[in-house]
Amino acid sequence: MSERLDVLILGGGIIGLSSAYALAAAGLKVEVVERGDFGREASWAGAGIVPPGNFEQAATPLDKLRAYGATHFPDFSRRLLDETGIDNEFTVCGGVEFLTQEEGDEYPALWRAEGLAVEPMRHPPRRVATPPGHSAWHLPGFAQVRNPRHVRSLVAASGRRGVRLTPNVGFESWQFRDGVVTGVTLADGSVRSARHTVVAAGAWAGDLLAQLGQSRRVYPVRGQIVLFRGRPGLVPHVLLCGKRYLAPRRDGRVLVGSTEEPGAGFAKGNTPEGVAGLTGFACELVPVLRDCEVEATWGGLRPGSADGLPTIAPVPGHPSVIAAVGHFRAGIQLSLGTASMVKALVTGGVSPVDPAGFAFDRVADATARPAFRS
Ligand SMILES: Cc1cc2nc3c(=O)[nH]c(=O)nc-3n(C[C@H](O)[C@H](O)[C@H](O)COP(=O)(O)OP(=O)(O)OC[C@H]3O[C@@H](n4cnc5c(N)ncnc54)[C@H](O)[C@@H]3O)c2cc1C
Repeated sequence: MSERLDVLILGGGIIGLSSAYALAAAGLKVEVVERGDFGREASWAGAGIVPPGNFEQAATPLDKLRAYGATHFPDFSRRLLDETGIDNEFTVCGGVEFLTQEEGDEYPALWRAEGLAVEPMRHPPRRVATPPGHSAWHLPGFAQVRNPRHVRSLVAASGRRGVRLTPNVGFESWQFRDGVVTGVTLADGSVRSARHTVVAAGAWAGDLLAQLGQSRRVYPVRGQIVLFRGRPGLVPHVLLCGKRYLAPRRDGRVLVGSTEEPGAGFAKGNTPEGVAGLTGFACELVPVLRDCEVEATWGGLRPGSADGLPTIAPVPGHPSVIAAVGHFRAGIQLSLGTASMVKALVTGGVSPVDPAGFAFDRVADATARPAFRS
């Protein structure tokens, strides 16, 4: 490539692609380098649940970032549809959360403090059985996006905006002069240099950051999914109970997630226990699923972080390198806010959310309670 890049993005999942789109829309020359195919890791594997949010009243930095996504997803989805013809099926389908007594004493108050609509339900929706010891709460603002389609539309829209998309070649190493990053060497031996490099390599970002002196920033946390072939309308809302959920797609398929397995390392496959646990959970919550076929199962690697927060910040000592990593269970809902923050870091513009909350040296506020568990 003859002309120098403004931004090189390492990793083509939802975080790298959303950032690429935002940067290209701002007129910058961008390349995304992806080790495999675009959007085929966590961003494909996830369930695509997008909780509601009220940006003005959101309390913690994480709540603000989530609320930014909730606010902007409808318009952004329409824009992607206009630009690419790909419908990401973003839908405000509402959600029902099943809470224990203790959770019921805490979460509804947090949601109301953010100005979010939430009502206790006397009866669960039709065909749904409230788990023993739980109460049902309706959150009409819950939404979902069909994440594999969303990522496909991001690839198409970024390409149309002039982003150079380079699949099947991974980052190999950083190049330095006098301790300063000057570029990267890729696995095919080619070299790239850009004014800014964004690390968006998901669960694998730990390696890239360790070479810059930031070890244990990100690690993989496997999550498994079971997909039922249901029928449209069988499950009316996203249903959530603890760390598990059902996400009904428009075509009737129902995703059931998910396990949380930090001990699995980089192994992505399913396990008999994981599949049996999710299948049992789903059939107890929605008994008619016992009559539905399990169409597929899969696993994905979430980019975990010690405090559960993403890091969206320049790497200490390497101001030209920006990390956008560690989105754990929430990278889809946080993708639009992250992209906007990355754009602000690159252009020197105004960040939608205070960047201090996602800096490398952030101090976790032990008293802060995010409105939604992730
Ligand atoms: C089962 C499951 C359910 C989930 N459900 C939800 C949900 O409902 N809502 C939600 O908001 N989030 C959800 N998540 C979390 C969400 O999917 C992730 O947080 C998000 O996808 C992370 O995006 P990413 O771009 O950082 O990572 P990825 O999508 O993993 O992308 C990283 C990319 O970097 C590439 N890469 C790695 N190493 C290199 C290298 N050396 N060189 C070049 N490229 C490299 C990889 O190939 C990959 O394509 C879920 C995740 C899982 C696994």
